[in-house]
Amino acid sequence: MAVKPKVTNGSTTLGPAANEKDAEKLRFIEEMTMNTDAVQERVLAEILSRNAETEYLKRYKLDGATDRETFKAKLPVVTYEDLQPDIQRIANGDRSPILSSHPISEFLTSSGTSAGERKLMPTIREELDRRQLLYSLLTPVMNLYVPGLDKGKGLYFLFIKSESKTPSGLPARPVLTSYYKSEHFKSRPHDPFNVYTSPNEAILCTDSFQSMYAQMLCGLLQRLDVLRVGAVFASGLLRAIRFLQLNWEQLAADISSGTLTKQITDPAIREAVTQQLRPDPELARFITKECSKGDWACIITRIWPNTKYLDVIVTGAMAQYIPTLEYYSGGLPMACTMYASSECYFGLNLRPMCSPSEVSYTIMPMMGYFEFIPLDADGTMCNGAQTQLVDLAHVEVGKEYELVITTYSGLNRYRVGDILRVTGFHNCAPQFQFIRRKNVLLSIESDKTDEAELQKAVTNASELIKSYNATVVEYTSHASTKSIPGHYVIYWELLIKKDKTKNGKSGTIPTELLDKCCLEMEESLNTVYRQSRVADCSIGPLEIRVVRPGTFEELMDYAISRGASINQYKVPRCVNFPPILELLDSRVVSTHFSPGLPKWTPTRSN
Ligand code: AMP
Repeated sequence: MAVKPKVTNGSTTLGPAANEKDAEKLRFIEEMTMNTDAVQERVLAEILSRNAETEYLKRYKLDGATDRETFKAKLPVVTYEDLQPDIQRIANGDRSPILSSHPISEFLTSSGTSAGERKLMPTIREELDRRQLLYSLLTPVMNLYVPGLDKGKGLYFLFIKSESKTPSGLPARPVLTSYYKSEHFKSRPHDPFNVYTSPNEAILCTDSFQSMYAQMLCGLLQRLDVLRVGAVFASGLLRAIRFLQLNWEQLAADISSGTLTKQITDPAIREAVTQQLRPDPELARFITKECSKGDWACIITRIWPNTKYLDVIVTGAMAQYIPTLEYYSGGLPMACTMYASSECYFGLNLRPMCSPSEVSYTIMPMMGYFEFIPLDADGTMCNGAQTQLVDLAHVEVGKEYELVITTYSGLNRYRVGDILRVTGFHNCAPQFQFIRRKNVLLSIESDKTDEAELQKAVTNASELIKSYNATVVEYTSHASTKSIPGHYVIYWELLIKKDKTKNGKSGTIPTELLDKCCLEMEESLNTVYRQSRVADCSIGPLEIRVVRPGTFEELMDYAISRGASINQYKVPRCVNFPPILELLDSRVVSTHFSPGLPKWTPTRSN
């Protein structure tokens, strides 16, 4: 039987709600988290009964069963690669109920890739409502901790990306692009707690320069109204600060004259921004004074002095940006509010003002059906783990798991690739710390490069130096975020044979050729990396640092001196430990940067 939350005067165990609308949402969170297992059972039954006639469930002979035991006994745990043939059929126009009984409305393109291309996730229209429901819970939770958010605005840097069409004509685009373009977002009713400084027209422009310029300009014009500053991920907010550093003179000129630069050509943006823009020499002087100092410490609070917190995800791969954000914001709290993916929106942080190291997300049981593969202390799968998945309500505090989801859109027992650790429970709902994404070696923003992709890139690039009798004998990598945008640094140790090659070249590799190797590596990396380089300019040129011969042996000596076993030692393909980076950097003999942009188009190659 469902447990009803105890409510007195609009107060739940989460705290006293700011208003009656919030109270209703908090009660909903309470109800869901008190009845986690029952809600999960209902969600699974709903998904299985509505999809009973799908080809996928019939293939595994579920025969209309909707109970957990049959589901677990008959359906395999799968990865994207297992589903790819079915997904490809849908993309090619097969409208029969393959994965979902509901029509597929579009494909969401994940930042996770398969064979170098974004994964395509079929989705159904009603999922937008489910995502909207999760969004609607964020403000009531935030209002518990930060009063007065209805007295000002949010400066959020939000962007859409270009979209393509599958052969069947369905849109293929990232989940946030889909959301911002939906009526759910565009025609959202006015909510005093959720007023943005950015006009929709600026958010909805695919040209990243024009979109950012307009959003920054509007944020500057309304600077005293701004109570929170945010972006989806930390890397996005840092890009915005970098944009201000590079463009403040033009922004100040526009504000001073009350006219918009000709660089903004999008008519909808021009119209929306021009409505706000009036000559304001005093504001222009203020911006010039703050930005011309060359001192960017606390720039966020200097320009937007009423900011109470940053609303930005700094968990997972984004944790690398915490010190830089602290520097720019003078240590403002960083609220990580939500945990979500293209496949499914998972949950929210019920204590959003906690420190980044303590962030835990409560997976909301109505969003999908969640199972967990138990992992050993060293992060590998426990014996028999694949067959003994744990249900959401039964995970154990302190243990790590890999997340497996079953969604209303038709993914069944799908491995997302995220590793989570249970930190506690809110009522009966477990709370998870995001530990890492499986198999990700390098990441600057949404890009995810794995070991095999890096290996392929090194192999392809090293072809270019073959004619100099040179080979890459060892390599490792590092995602450098010392400057914004961050970039990949690849350390190469070369072996150059002294004897002349067939075509008579001697052993010195021209520096331009090594520069070209950087570009060749970029050409070999996946589409998300190349899109970030080309369309979003959110990753800087790849760098190769050639280290002197013997460096990787020194690296091994160092690891062994710290207790690594000689027999088991493997060259780490990515390094983050400062003493190792120092060792590598002290042995660099030459550095090279990609001289151009890799090829990228919004159209998919498959
Ligand atoms: P995408 O499918 O491209 O939207 O990427 C979704 C992935 O981003 C998730 O599976 C996570 O790996 C990561 N992610 C999403 N939200 C968070 C978060 N709050 N903290 C850390 N990583 C996150």
